[in-house]
Amino acid sequence: MGTEPPSSTALLAWYEPRRRAYPWRRKPTPYRVLVSEVMLQQTQAARVVPAFERFVATFPSVRALAAAPTADVVRAWDGLGYNRRAVALSRAARQIAERHGGRVPRDTAALRALSGVGPYTADALAAIAFGEPVVAADVNVLRVSSRAVLGAEPGALRRADVTAAAAAWLDDADPADWNQAMMDLGREVCRTVPRCAICPISASCSLVRRGRREGGAGAAPAHRPRARSPFEGSMRQVRGAVVRALRARSPMGVGALARESGQPADRVREAVRALHREGLVTVAGRTVGLPN
Ligand code: SF4
Repeated sequence: MGTEPPSSTALLAWYEPRRRAYPWRRKPTPYRVLVSEVMLQQTQAARVVPAFERFVATFPSVRALAAAPTADVVRAWDGLGYNRRAVALSRAARQIAERHGGRVPRDTAALRALSGVGPYTADALAAIAFGEPVVAADVNVLRVSSRAVLGAEPGALRRADVTAAAAAWLDDADPADWNQAMMDLGREVCRTVPRCAICPISASCSLVRRGRREGGAGAAPAHRPRARSPFEGSMRQVRGAVVRALRARSPMGVGALARESGQPADRVREAVRALHREGLVTVAGRTVGLPN
């Protein structure tokens, strides 16, 4: 099994034209990186771009976001889905305003203490916004590191070994570009079925060197992605319809909410209970609204 990390030079040269591909990369202030990382948690970059530009135009700073009613933040989240992220981001902005004087903290422990910021997002912020030498170990970064450094699929290895391999490869001189290059490479090239023929680091990739994925043709994934549960008719769909209806008019009763959302009343009640538990809606008697 190989352990020598490939050179970062080819990786960063491949990434160069992508450095300006997204608005958060063109102007990577800590606040813009925070907003983009939360949006990118569960939404593809192409869908995030217009929502991000609208969002930062509406809330141009941590303080502006912290001062806004949560209902307005949820409205501005339109088009992104997984609306609980909007509530968490609203809370995080208020925490940053209260605890850190309105400046996004640099320290990963302080970042992790923010609402909606888990270990991955904290590491991504530390690396991308502040240039700290840490690996944002998302699934793409781990897959590329596992194959390119250790010459094996990540499912065949201990996670600790893969993260250590990524850390050994990390370019300390430019953690922001290195992490984003790895994310892009994993998403576009070193996918579940790797596209080694077009990979910029194939010459130094351990998996290729071992001849196990030569050219990428016909390579079978070690782990096939699980089939997604159908969105149609799911509770996620009902929840999305409820929040959409409330964005247009808030508050309203469950009956009106069922009519406006086009969903059955019993499913709407179930969705409202879950959304209420998560702080995404308020309930006063029989009336449901977006939070302040
Ligand atoms: S050469 Fe193939 S396996 Fe190696 S990093 Fe590139 S795409 Fe992944």
